[in-house]
Amino acid sequence: MTEETKNATHFGEDVFGDKAIRTYLSKETAKKLQATIQEGKPLDPSIAGEVAHGIRHWAMDRGATHYTHWFLPMTGSTAEKHDSFLELKDGEPIMLFSGKNLIVGEPDASSFPSGGIRSTFEARGYTAWDPTSPAFIKRHANGATLCIPTAFCAYTGESLDKKTPLLRSMQALDKSLKRLMKLFGRGEAHTGCTLGAEQEYFLVDKEYWRKRPDLVLTGRTLFGAPSAKGQQLEDHYFGTIPDRVLSFMNDVERELWKLGIPAKTRHNEVAPAQFELAPQFEELNLASDHNMLVMDTLRNVADKYGLKCLLHEKPYAGVNGSGKHNNWSVAYGGKNLLDPGTNPDENAVFLTMLTAVVEAVDKHADLLRASVAGAGNDHRLGANEAPPAVISIYVGDQLAEVLDRLENGGGAKSKSGTAMKIGVDTLPVIPKDATDRNRTSPFAFTGNKFEFRAPGSSVCCSGPMTVLNTIVAEAVDRIAGELEKAKVAGKAKPDEHTPAFHNALQKILQASLKAHKRVVFNGNGYEAEWPAEAARRGLPNAPDTPSALAALAKKENAALFARYGVMTERELRSRHEIFLEEYAKKVRIEGACARDIASEMIFPAVKAEYLETVKALAKAQSVDVACGTTALRESLVELGTGLDALKAGIGKLDKALDGSPSAAVSSEDILSSMQSLRTTVDSLEKRVSTERWPLPKYRDMLFLY
Ligand code: ADP
Ligand code: MG
Repeated sequence: MTEETKNATHFGEDVFGDKAIRTYLSKETAKKLQATIQEGKPLDPSIAGEVAHGIRHWAMDRGATHYTHWFLPMTGSTAEKHDSFLELKDGEPIMLFSGKNLIVGEPDASSFPSGGIRSTFEARGYTAWDPTSPAFIKRHANGATLCIPTAFCAYTGESLDKKTPLLRSMQALDKSLKRLMKLFGRGEAHTGCTLGAEQEYFLVDKEYWRKRPDLVLTGRTLFGAPSAKGQQLEDHYFGTIPDRVLSFMNDVERELWKLGIPAKTRHNEVAPAQFELAPQFEELNLASDHNMLVMDTLRNVADKYGLKCLLHEKPYAGVNGSGKHNNWSVAYGGKNLLDPGTNPDENAVFLTMLTAVVEAVDKHADLLRASVAGAGNDHRLGANEAPPAVISIYVGDQLAEVLDRLENGGGAKSKSGTAMKIGVDTLPVIPKDATDRNRTSPFAFTGNKFEFRAPGSSVCCSGPMTVLNTIVAEAVDRIAGELEKAKVAGKAKPDEHTPAFHNALQKILQASLKAHKRVVFNGNGYEAEWPAEAARRGLPNAPDTPSALAALAKKENAALFARYGVMTERELRSRHEIFLEEYAKKVRIEGACARDIASEMIFPAVKAEYLETVKALAKAQSVDVACGTTALRESLVELGTGLDALKAGIGKLDKALDGSPSAAVSSEDILSSMQSLRTTVDSLEKRVSTERWPLPKYRDMLFLY
């Protein structure tokens, strides 16, 4: 084995996981902690002291001198405030980390967005240990820090972070599934949601990045004429990975493996300089934390290779943007409920779950859309390389046929000529891989899981996953309720697999599918006709962030989250406020940045080119040379017109930036002024000499070879 191949043996070495727990904790404490981690059992508070002691020893053995409660505030990034283990006792330094230090923290966190939940005079916020996501070590050049994943809330208990609602939504789904599975005669078990988050990203040379204030400040290029070669040849996708990038990837994976993150797949993506990293799926809350660390690691390691990792959804106009495909499924007692299974009983559970997801997505497409809304993703959703802003489900032709027959019940004949009933032997065995690949759907069934493709590359997975869990919890709960009613009515005995039970179930699923099948769309989501067809079906299509976020202000949505204990009305309202404000601020930063670049960099460059051309023309005329003067005059007109347009465009953008106090109106003004300024600048890029052009060009930045 070489040093490199030994890396796999370092998997998880910076995580306080199984092995560390067994080594650093007593048998009894280890067992209690494992029960919380694996089965979601409430944590026994009496073990906190010993766990803290063990974790500190483990961390110090790895060079850690400090610890931090690591959390996910509403900014969408991660937060950490470090404290050292050092304490002075009678003037003597000792290293300490108590149970209390582990369990709660009280960061002075008054500057995090709270959407009105917390005013500065009552600024106390608490971080509370999340034992289901193991502590880990974060290393830097000359030391290390112990990171304790925590939930962050106000002193009232209201959530101020992205983790708490996710945990609550998992609990809601667990409750609903227990109710449903009991009716299927299954013993009580633990619900496990799983997530595999495929992460797309761009890499750009740091030297270019530094010269682009737009990339530095906003993460995307606000100007840039297309490169002659972009992604037309489709030669980048799955192509040979450039050596520099491969070395970077190796380094990233080595770091991730140490953190116990099972990085698995890597490849070139569609756009030049675009790549993907996919880990093997894990338990949802852990996978969501891990994705935050994946993004951190990509950014940190890139630096070492003279690169910058761009996680923005649309760093470059005209080539593909980046998403984060959230592969989600749900298991009960370790068995994946989205796996069609091999026997009629498993098939019945599968079809019930499939129907529940269809129902949930149709009923709450607006919430799913809202969960992926953001200034960056607006450039991606609905653009022609990404799933449209209409939320629909793709199930593939074979499953569509199964659903069709299920919906039409006894009347319809299956291919074999028998009527279809769930869970009886007339049900055709559902083919194992019943899905065709369809990359144009925002929400696709892919064999044994759903792939939510609308989330943007920079998003924290917990937002979209919280919504998905909650809406599925509701649908499962409703179906279970109907089944129970059938039982009370004496028409069926749900605890047995009697034909009456299956008849009742079949009727319930039929009614649901009839009401919600409009959300199933197996065609090409990129087709121009689809949005019109979607509108005919009555599916919502929120084209931008403010309109998408409106879903969070609806009474019925607040009631849904409250009913399932995921968010109170106040918590939801605060989120709406935070997201709207974040959007307006981001647009404003982009607008100001575009204005500054145009007036401080582009205008002077065009002016210089203009001046040089004026001089050349005067000179040509003075030496009485006729040829060349036509070209010079023409280019003078182009440059002069460009200068005028540039000045006017900057003025218009400036006005928009001063504009309406209404965030929604001014954002729209700013964006449209930026767009017209961009058109002017991008056409001038073709008229000014390359040496003089102040910004690195797309053709330079997009090719890393
Ligand atoms: P593709 O790019 O073809 O969609 P990838 O292999 O890149 O597929 O990613 C698929 C992701 O789905 C991986 O992260 C994989 O671990 C994950 N996945 C597989 N099964 C499940 C499951 N049951 N639940 C959640 N995620 C899953
Ligand atoms: Mg993939």
